Amino acid sequence: IDRKDFHRHAPDITKWIQQYFDQLEELPVKSQVAPGAIYKQIPDQMPQSGEPLESILQDMDRIILPGMTHWQHPNFHAYFPANSSVESVYAEMMTAAMGAQCMIWETSPAAAELEERMMEWLQRAMGIPKDWEGVIQDTASSATLVAILTAREKVTNFEANENGVPPNLRVYCSTQTHSSIEKAVKIAGIGRKNLVKIPVDEQMRMRPDALDAQIQQDMESGYLPCCVVTAVGTTGTVAVDPIPEISAICARHNVWHHIDAAYAGSALILPEYQWMIEGMEQADSFVFNPHKWLFTNFDCTAYYVKDADMLVRTFDILPEYLKTRTRGQVNDYRDWGIPLGRRFRALKLWFVMRSFGLKGMQERLRQHIVLNTQFAEWVEQSENFELLLPPFLNFTCFRFRPDGQTEEALNALNQALVERVNQRGKLFLTHTKIEDRYVLRMVIGQTYVEARHVEAAWAEIRSVAAELNLHAQ
Ligand code: PLP
Repeated sequence: IDRKDFHRHAPDITKWIQQYFDQLEELPVKSQVAPGAIYKQIPDQMPQSGEPLESILQDMDRIILPGMTHWQHPNFHAYFPANSSVESVYAEMMTAAMGAQCMIWETSPAAAELEERMMEWLQRAMGIPKDWEGVIQDTASSATLVAILTAREKVTNFEANENGVPPNLRVYCSTQTHSSIEKAVKIAGIGRKNLVKIPVDEQMRMRPDALDAQIQQDMESGYLPCCVVTAVGTTGTVAVDPIPEISAICARHNVWHHIDAAYAGSALILPEYQWMIEGMEQADSFVFNPHKWLFTNFDCTAYYVKDADMLVRTFDILPEYLKTRTRGQVNDYRDWGIPLGRRFRALKLWFVMRSFGLKGMQERLRQHIVLNTQFAEWVEQSENFELLLPPFLNFTCFRFRPDGQTEEALNALNQALVERVNQRGKLFLTHTKIEDRYVLRMVIGQTYVEARHVEAAWAEIRSVAAELNLHAQ
């Protein structure tokens, strides 16, 4: 298609998107297709001659759509949301049109400088220390790897970069922290055996006393403690590790402290939740995902670091073809993370933050939190359901608990409940385990979710539970 003919098909695409949004609530939230069903429908070779866009769009509806799980459906309550917004979609379209590769300032000064500003806007709104610096990464997993690599270089005085990783480095996280930490220690050459999982208290938070004792014991045994990763909002139950105590322990032992707030970090734009990062001035780095609960399309991760020089020294590499006259005067973000190539991700943040405004974003998050409180009340008041933890933010952990069932039977019942709910397609839920109990996670975070959606979800959960209970008796 010639570029001057872009406008000819553009209305078909925007019409498709509008129809998608309009019919979204009628679609099954979780895709219902069997493994291999989509693959089988795609020819085994590319076409020899180009096909008309009309037939591609037909196949979009016929083949692709049934194989999609609809993350932007208001009843997407699984995992954590990857929410989006109309503003963010517009920006993504324009980003794609410009197709810039923003590896260094010179390859698009606007991308580098808008990124710097967007990171400052978020930093100020969220109460992140003023002297820290931010950069956009693709995912929290990459940002955590970046933090661990920087910590590794700091503790080895940049020897690991030059000569390889010594075998005695140690990284610490709680038993509840995300699998990305395990992945990062594998990639960083530190090794899984050197990742120590610290026990948690009854609220699933890392125990500072246990961390302190472990670091002490490791130092006495000849290990070199390198990094502690805490969570502000664990993936299983949104637990918040005690940041002030752990920051103080890390500062005392001179160990890098990285805070993973991938999900719950968005709530820091609400002053009433800034307590979650109290004490972080003593930490070293922090990550959160606007692509989870801040209306910005995947992928967009905000990574903040106290000592940006340490970060740049870890990743800096300068081949002849990347030498520029502006080096040193501007931020060349290729030096702030792993890939050389970078998308222009700041643009969608700019669209979202300008169009919503801080107040608009705060209102939307508070609305989700209110909906969650209401949902948790229904669970609590119901005879056959129980809360496993107090509701927190927009997250409730609960299970179906009819009388007279063993723990084993309850696990089976709750597993069957999730499977049947997801199969019926009106909502999508996932589970976690708390002390061997199979429990359900309800997350109310899709941008456009309203009270009626949550009411419908609760009615559906109860109806499936009643059906299962009849069969169980
Ligand atoms: N950290 C936490 C606490 C998470 O909940 C998640 C994802 O749910 C991640 C990290 C990974 O995020 P990403 O997909 O951006 O790598």
